[in-house]
Amino acid sequence: MSIPFIDLKTQYQRAKKDIDAAIQAVLDHGQYIMGPEVRELEQQLADYIGVKHVLACSSGTDALILPLMAKKLKKDDAVFTVPFTFFASAESISLAGATPVFVDIDAQTFNMDPAALEVQIERVLSEGKLAPKGIMPLDLFGLPADYDAINAIADKYGLFVLEDSAQGFAGDYKGRKACGLAEVAATSFFPAKPLGCYGDGGAVFTNDDAMYDELVSLRVHGQSKVGDKYDNVAIGLNARMDTIQAAVLLEKLKFYDDELLHRNRVANRYDELLGDVLETPQVPEGYGSVWAQYSVLAESSLTRDRVREAMQAKGIPSAVYYPVPTHLASAYSDLGHQIGDFPVSEDFSTRIFSLPMHPYLEDEQIVKIADAIKTAL
Ligand SMILES: *Cc1c(COP(=O)(O)O)cnc(C)c1O
Repeated sequence: MSIPFIDLKTQYQRAKKDIDAAIQAVLDHGQYIMGPEVRELEQQLADYIGVKHVLACSSGTDALILPLMAKKLKKDDAVFTVPFTFFASAESISLAGATPVFVDIDAQTFNMDPAALEVQIERVLSEGKLAPKGIMPLDLFGLPADYDAINAIADKYGLFVLEDSAQGFAGDYKGRKACGLAEVAATSFFPAKPLGCYGDGGAVFTNDDAMYDELVSLRVHGQSKVGDKYDNVAIGLNARMDTIQAAVLLEKLKFYDDELLHRNRVANRYDELLGDVLETPQVPEGYGSVWAQYSVLAESSLTRDRVREAMQAKGIPSAVYYPVPTHLASAYSDLGHQIGDFPVSEDFSTRIFSLPMHPYLEDEQIVKIADAIKTAL
């Protein structure tokens, strides 16, 4: 039998009775939009992460766009992010009307390099074309970025920080949880993310009351804060989370901690079995990953392709996140970037690949995957 890259079927079997009942309860009460489960989920997420406000919404992309909209950005406002990520990070900056400015990643953590961030901010300031406004670091593959360093730079230059934790829900950073590491944070509940629903979903996290009020309004067409449906005070979105998705997430949150233990079990086994033959992921002291992906670096692009083909021949899936760094995407050709602008991101995009990662991988499967890789090498 082939090994699934992500195993949502086994997860569903584990909690089928509860999940079915939770969905049935929504069908019975009939409040499909903004039903009581949405508020309940927001409260539980706020308690779990340790922030004051959570706003459930329609996707991780919308969870990024909503706080950026609240910042009322203009075309010549710069928001700094990394090019080594899913397209939605930079895209949300553009959709909110601002201009993304890229910062290369650190070779150890694959996350935003704080030293490179400061260099880019200084460059933008001295060029004088764009006004630095915000920073969007990303918790890539489930590992938090270095928020102490990034928040300190933000303070120094008067910038906001929006944590893109679409892959990092509740990752550990010096005893605090990801999604609570910056002024405002966003996560995704896309099915393949560490905490996934059965469709699209996302959430925004903040301790800031004024930001939260803006988000509540923007989520429903910029409706007025006094609750008058037909007095709109801003141009917003329809970015609500479906009640059924909230009901599913409430059930899955109950065993998320247990799943994280198992994701770490799998990662530790991969480390043991593959640490000598590939560059395996490094988790710095004081950090904990939620292992959205377990990504390794091969020696070269050719080696990567050879290993992936050998894995595929044995029914073992793998994936490449991300083959094209965002600064080289066609949609951003107008920014005028070229190969060589962000060397770490470019190099990694040619050598990286991700192994099957989910809480239900059994030890013999992990050994089989590692053997296939070692044989190919
Ligand atoms: C998945 C992802 C998003 C977008 O989330 P959706 O729920 O798919 O809209 C944004 N940023 C990153 C880093 C992601 O991995």
